[in-house]
Amino acid sequence: MDCIFCKIVEGTIPSKKVFENEHVVAFHDIQPAAPVHVLIIPKKHIAAMNDVAEEDLPLIAEIHRAALQMARELDVAESGYRLVNNCGRDSGQIVFHLHYHLLGGEKLGALNA
Ligand code: 5GP
Ligand code: ZN
Repeated sequence: MDCIFCKIVEGTIPSKKVFENEHVVAFHDIQPAAPVHVLIIPKKHIAAMNDVAEEDLPLIAEIHRAALQMARELDVAESGYRLVNNCGRDSGQIVFHLHYHLLGGEKLGALNA
């Protein structure tokens, strides 16, 4: 399968990993939109949030746990951060392997700006 994030999971495409366990990987976004911009992904290929099955929900909990750990380790837990999932065309999703953006390290723009 020609999926860039599966290749990052396998290590055939390099990335700056900040977290890894049996099911989840987190790495710095190649084009950061904030001082802290980490992508948190399941190792399992799931194209988008629309494809998350009931059986995948423990994985989503693990991603949430990893996000909280990353927020603490990257020192944005107290100042604040945003966890974002883009799903589908209107959201601007460009990589079709489920991922959550963890953004922080500065005052982020309002969603309705
Ligand atoms: P999306 O718009 O799909 O939610 O965001 C995809 C994100 O993946 C973008 O922020 C983009 O900069 C990031 N990205 C795309 N290709 C790579 C890559 O090869 N390595 C890393 N680290 N990030 C990538
Ligand atoms: Zn994939």
